[in-house]
Amino acid sequence: MNTEKALVVFSGGQDSTTCLFWAKKAFNEVEAVTFNYGQRHVAELDCAKEIAEDLNVPHHILDMSLLNQLAPSALTRTDEEITHLEGELPSTFVPGRNLLFLSFAGILAKQIGAKHIVTGVCETDFSGYPDCRDIFVKSLNVSLNLSMNEQFVIHTPLMWINKSQTWEMADDLGAFRYIQEHTLTCYNGLKGSGCGECPACELRQRGLDEYLSSKKGGKGS
Ligand SMILES: [Zn+2]
Repeated sequence: MNTEKALVVFSGGQDSTTCLFWAKKAFNEVEAVTFNYGQRHVAELDCAKEIAEDLNVPHHILDMSLLNQLAPSALTRTDEEITHLEGELPSTFVPGRNLLFLSFAGILAKQIGAKHIVTGVCETDFSGYPDCRDIFVKSLNVSLNLSMNEQFVIHTPLMWINKSQTWEMADDLGAFRYIQEHTLTCYNGLKGSGCGECPACELRQRGLDEYLSSKKGGKGS
């Protein structure tokens, strides 16, 4: 196990919770940071707090409400519908959001003495977010190191795996049931399997079905 400290960018969703379990296995010392940018559902923040507590991880919540000023979108304004037209960026898109989040995570990491930053961004289910691409994360890693004269390492354990494989990773980490029941992905703010109707729930369920049908023997059930 790595004895250095890691900071996990953490939303309380399936992906970042899987990363939190991954980091707890890989690093001796783990802290988490959640960004409060006026999410559609306060439930997201509560959910993140609960999980951090359950896992005994020091939890930082940073106010990023300025994102509302920059990009009013369906994620942050309840009077707009979430739409995702074929070939276009989803209407939840806040340009450069991950650039900001990872930069602030870097500053916090410096302050708490964490050399490692863990994020659940993923290029495989590329949904049109250019700052979730591997090449961007690598580029920002260099910029962060130059900006603070540090040797940060940004880890992206989910970068090249799909949703089904993310469930498999959770299972391998012994966290399948916990993640299934305690994480929040749903756009309608419902924990676990969610509302079952929004695009986030559909994506999550599709990955879960795929994983459950691919595995033999009933591990994690
Ligand atoms: Zn839903």
